[in-house]
Amino acid sequence: MNIVFLGAPGAGKGTQATMVSERFSIPHISTGDIFRQNIKDRTPIGIAAKGYIDRGQLVPDEVTIELVKGRISEDDCKNGFILDGFPRDVAQAEVLAQFAKIDAVIDIVIPFDKLMKRLTGRRVCSKCGESYHVDFLGDVSVCSKCNGKLIQRADDTSETVQQRLDVYMAKTAPLIDYYQNSGLLKDVNGDQPVSDVFKEIIKVLE
Ligand code: ADP
Ligand code: ADP
Ligand code: ZN
Repeated sequence: MNIVFLGAPGAGKGTQATMVSERFSIPHISTGDIFRQNIKDRTPIGIAAKGYIDRGQLVPDEVTIELVKGRISEDDCKNGFILDGFPRDVAQAEVLAQFAKIDAVIDIVIPFDKLMKRLTGRRVCSKCGESYHVDFLGDVSVCSKCNGKLIQRADDTSETVQQRLDVYMAKTAPLIDYYQNSGLLKDVNGDQPVSDVFKEIIKVLE
């Protein structure tokens, strides 16, 4: 099954996509994670993407589309994959439709005014990328999965988050109508505990 996870920054796409990936044994492809790894490794893709990501803007399609195309054509995607963070606008969705057949689009819906707190309170594992939130961490400072150090993403400051939310409204939100029209869209309530969101997603997919 080829699945796209839609939803505003902070809606819970990464958290849920990781769980669905484990449940169905299909890879979780997060363009944001791939960019961050490339930035860490100082690759040409990382160097090209960094300035845009730091400003909360979209990385140009010349960089992004080839990257996704290449990743989807790898062997481990034969039985399906989960896209998280791609497509991010209608133009990317149209290109995606040319090289992959999408079976379901899960839109994680959450009230817009809750996103700022989710994002500024987010901490991520510097090794595996797992997401956490300060509200639930207490004094824990390492990843429960791999023991990696938890850090705050450079673009999770309030100014950059605001910019990313503006970009979401202008460019990504129109994808809801796009996928609604193609009959693929499934809404899931993201404003409930992680395990309940997961149950709803599994129900929708099965
Ligand atoms: P996205 O990938 O959509 O940007 P994340 O999965 O990284 O979102 O989640 C954003 C923040 O919200 C993280 O700090 C995460 O721990 C937290 N979070 C995710 N899902 C929930 C939920 N159902 N309830 C409360 N907090 C959540
Ligand atoms: P979030 O957790 O807020 O949903 P992501 O990790 O998906 O954020 O993305 C972080 C940044 O990476 C974005 O703000 C953008 O600069 C860049 N990015 C990720 N995916 C794409 C894409 N499909 N097209 C363009 N830029 C992207
Ligand atoms: Zn980890």
